[in-house]
Amino acid sequence: MTEKAELQSVLDRAAAGGRITPEEALDLYRSAPLHALGSAADAVRRRRYAGTEHIATYIIERNINYTNICVTACKFCAFYAAPKDTKKGWSRDLDDILRRCAETVELGGTQIMFQGGHHPDYGVEYYEKHFAAIKAEFPQLVIHSLGASEVEHMARISGVSVEEAITRIHAAGLDSFAGAGAELLPERPRKAIAPLKESGERWLEIMEIAHKLGVESTSTMLMGTGETNAERIEHLRMIRDVQDRTGGFRAFIPYTYQPENNHLKGRTHATLFEYLRMIAVSRLFFDNIAHIQGSWLTTGKEIGQLTLHYGADDLGSIMLEENVVSSAGAKHRSNLREMIDMIRTADRVPAQRTTTYEHIVVHDDPANDPVDERVASHISSTAIEGGTAHPELKLLDAN
Ligand code: SF4
Repeated sequence: MTEKAELQSVLDRAAAGGRITPEEALDLYRSAPLHALGSAADAVRRRRYAGTEHIATYIIERNINYTNICVTACKFCAFYAAPKDTKKGWSRDLDDILRRCAETVELGGTQIMFQGGHHPDYGVEYYEKHFAAIKAEFPQLVIHSLGASEVEHMARISGVSVEEAITRIHAAGLDSFAGAGAELLPERPRKAIAPLKESGERWLEIMEIAHKLGVESTSTMLMGTGETNAERIEHLRMIRDVQDRTGGFRAFIPYTYQPENNHLKGRTHATLFEYLRMIAVSRLFFDNIAHIQGSWLTTGKEIGQLTLHYGADDLGSIMLEENVVSSAGAKHRSNLREMIDMIRTADRVPAQRTTTYEHIVVHDDPANDPVDERVASHISSTAIEGGTAHPELKLLDAN
């Protein structure tokens, strides 16, 4: 068989639902024609969601960045402040955090992502206190937050096992892990960009423990910090192997490195075509993960729309607040009307979803579209010009 015929035969098998090997995934990623790749991935998506394949989902949520003080100093990160940097470092108090939750509820948000640095004093007790307080006041909010890195850090600070840390923060109110901190899981690129983080194997081990304790998660991948194509596919393999054992990853969310204000100084990047290829290959490779999310926040709205034709079924969120990738230069913003338009003009019916991907409202009639213009991304982010800085929180007027 010629190389072209071999690639087509792998694509056909994958499109028909067959499992592909990491070596085959790498061949597809490197060499399959872009449109054929997208078309095979879209066939898999349509079959998985037969009956609702015309729908693409989004969620309304808020990142609550509780501190930027961090001992881990990742080289791609523009958000953190070293503990000694008292000028740049900040932490939010509980009242501030609860006000942010109240605004989230007021704007129809259903989920919060508690996301911050590895603060040298924040152990399990800190998260127990905050999650319990949020759940006591806002039981309707889903706490989809943190990841293996934070768990490893908080367990070390408190001198307990990660099993105990997960059990305790779950009991206090954490619903699921957001899977942050995966970055690149293979050893070489991980050591190059996050030398003080736990290893990729340890990240996965902690996620596996969480899944076995009944706490599901999403999984992520940071593309564009100098990793090779083979390392990108190895990242997928490592996640798929764990998923075969636990079934606890609900989604896979690749996103791209943002080049501003960090140690890597934008010397590397992932192209938008590479991003689309990754979306398609991940849909073909992950026969055991239900949802693939396109990251319009880091790649832009047009690429976000295209991901819906390359295997993605979800466009993530209207993020009422975001400071982490925005600090590194992610400039894409949206509001609810735009998000609905973005999905509709990509020839899908938009639907607002829950954290666990149930449809809350399907926007199948434009005449009934929501009209609250306050539901916009970054309403109080500190990382962008015009963002409302702590401690003043002001919602935009309805008009
Ligand atoms: S990515 Fe997270 S752990 Fe790494 S430096 Fe930034 S805040 Fe700290």
